[in-house]
Amino acid sequence: MSTSARASGSLTVGTLSAEPGSKARGPVLADLGAITMNIPVTLINGARRGPRIVITAGMHGGEFTGVDAATRLSELLKPDEVSGQVIVCPVANPPAVYDGRLGVSPLDGVNINRVFPGDAEGGPTERLAAWLFAGLVGGADAYIDLHSGGIDETLHDFIGYRLTGEPGLDEKTRHMAHALGIRDVVLGLNAEGGNSHAAAARHGIPALLVETGDRGERDPAAADRLVDALCGLLGELRVLDRASREPLPVREWVWAGAITAETTGLWYSDVAAGDDVTTGQVIGLITDPATGREHQVVASATGRVFYGMHGLTVAPGAELAAIAAPRDPGR
Ligand SMILES: [Zn+2]
Repeated sequence: MSTSARASGSLTVGTLSAEPGSKARGPVLADLGAITMNIPVTLINGARRGPRIVITAGMHGGEFTGVDAATRLSELLKPDEVSGQVIVCPVANPPAVYDGRLGVSPLDGVNINRVFPGDAEGGPTERLAAWLFAGLVGGADAYIDLHSGGIDETLHDFIGYRLTGEPGLDEKTRHMAHALGIRDVVLGLNAEGGNSHAAAARHGIPALLVETGDRGERDPAAADRLVDALCGLLGELRVLDRASREPLPVREWVWAGAITAETTGLWYSDVAAGDDVTTGQVIGLITDPATGREHQVVASATGRVFYGMHGLTVAPGAELAAIAAPRDPGR
């Protein structure tokens, strides 16, 4: 695929810089106003011209496969084998990753992947999103954000991306999504919302959400599979010199239903990630340990569960199941 070829020159993020043909690694101090944060960044500035690829992980806590794979990839890539520039940030949201291992930041309770492109004058997480978007994501020719099933989350591996209505951009993104060798691709039918990949798509950048790993797993083999998938994608983007792989057949889906808890209690799920459900089907119960009262939870759509709640204890608003339906090719 074609992406703009970068003039060879130094690659800089904050105080970290790499000349063409070199690699730099270190913490970059993000000055967020009231607070500062050290963000780990690796810059691989290729000896030859090519696109700039930005890979982030660790937007959320407890999502280990992506963090592990991004770190392994940043160690693996050699500048003399790279055409273009690769920026890897394995822990994009250190407070959420290190201090809470939760989807929200312990600083302000905000889910960073709902506030992109951020607000430099906002709260701590909005400011961090703005810093990441201005310093890393916004300058990419292609962007990949690695997520995983968190500690309390079941997940069936998938790639996500957003349709923008801009045919050239959507085709580039589709090509990237199909190059990863992950079978299920879930489309969002617009690029609205505060997810980093949605904000990047609105900025004209082909952008993928990659979701691999289940229930906080930290399996080295799973991380290596993801590294291999990312190297395949970098080959397809001509950043790495690799023979094109035979593309795996892909199944395309669209998001069809998000089921959240309406009550506090104990969640007993009848379905697992990867299961097919039909509208109205009882997919689990929330019981009140005080009264024994049972609250049935039903599927709001027909399709497949791609992720869901593994934790036993839930409060109103907790995401219990996300359902996608096979894509109607006419849409
Ligand atoms: Zn996540």
